[in-house]
Amino acid sequence: MRVLTGIQPSGALHIGNYFGAIKQMVDLQEKSDLFIFIPNYHALTSLKDGVALKNNTLDAAINFMSLGIDPTKATLWAQSDVKEVLELYWVLSGYTPMGLLERAHGYKDKVAKGIAANHSLFSYPVLMAADILLYDAEVIPVGKDQIQHVEITRDIAIKFNNEFGDIFKVPDFKVDDNVATVPGLDGAKMSKSYGNTIDIFCTEKELKKATSRIVTDSTPMEEPKDYLTCNVFALAKLFLEKDEVVALQARYQKGGEGYGHFKAYLATLIWDYFAQAREKRAYYVAHKEEVFAILDEGAAKARAIASEKMRVVRDLVGIYR
Ligand code: ATP
Ligand code: MG
Repeated sequence: MRVLTGIQPSGALHIGNYFGAIKQMVDLQEKSDLFIFIPNYHALTSLKDGVALKNNTLDAAINFMSLGIDPTKATLWAQSDVKEVLELYWVLSGYTPMGLLERAHGYKDKVAKGIAANHSLFSYPVLMAADILLYDAEVIPVGKDQIQHVEITRDIAIKFNNEFGDIFKVPDFKVDDNVATVPGLDGAKMSKSYGNTIDIFCTEKELKKATSRIVTDSTPMEEPKDYLTCNVFALAKLFLEKDEVVALQARYQKGGEGYGHFKAYLATLIWDYFAQAREKRAYYVAHKEEVFAILDEGAAKARAIASEKMRVVRDLVGIYR
């Protein structure tokens, strides 16, 4: 089963990204034909700093490999290394009714937030359709906010297939209900744009500073504490085995320890959990040529599929030669 997913090259990753998305991919690469691309063309819609986008694209590859994506198991490439996607995007545009895009929440939400309503932002779902259809992807893991975009892809694929036969696989989306929302320092959903994140690859000092800022109630040190409503506990349990969770619950219920203790404990849990990832990251940062070689190899594999698909599509729509 071919599963396709894209990961925005948007800078520092936080533990919400890890438990909400990357960890699932690391599992998926074992049991599916996982295709992961870094959507740097998509990123052009919001990031207008060329140097940052180049750095972020490479950084995204480094981060994912550091966190367990194995390029021998998954196919990892940068979107822009397979130019066929832009060609298919244009062809598909001819099969995309304006009304379909005008109804897209993603576009409307971004414009409502004050982002300039340019054409690339508007046609973003068509490029996404090209990403999916070019590689015959069958399943697209998404968050709820992305369901509509996959539905648009399905509509476009069906329209094209009605015209030309069974050319594109019509993909399904998959929402993983088991994925919990990771709370941020203030208890709201951890999100870059809320400034409430704990970053995976920060320094130990920054990590301690971040955990010390987690909002808690004012139960005094000696009294029992409610782990069910505690943000520190909610984060700590992501890093613990079942028996360790039970032990931590007991410490909360017993009293005698302040939130400062629990925050310090959380900091060590996080620091230890990502120790290996940090080492790998340092290695890749020092060996960028290896990362480029891996991306080249992934792109070659993706391109082989893409060029065959485009050969068929070109012929059908009448692009001569
Ligand atoms: P932004 O603030 O720009 O939306 P973000 O921090 O929310 O950024 P995204 O780039 O939107 O991060 O999300 C990347 C992936 O991480 C998505 O699959 C998303 O569902 C997941 N994710 C992000 N934040 C969380 C969270 N707090 N809990 C669980 N999953 C999350
Ligand atoms: Mg988000």
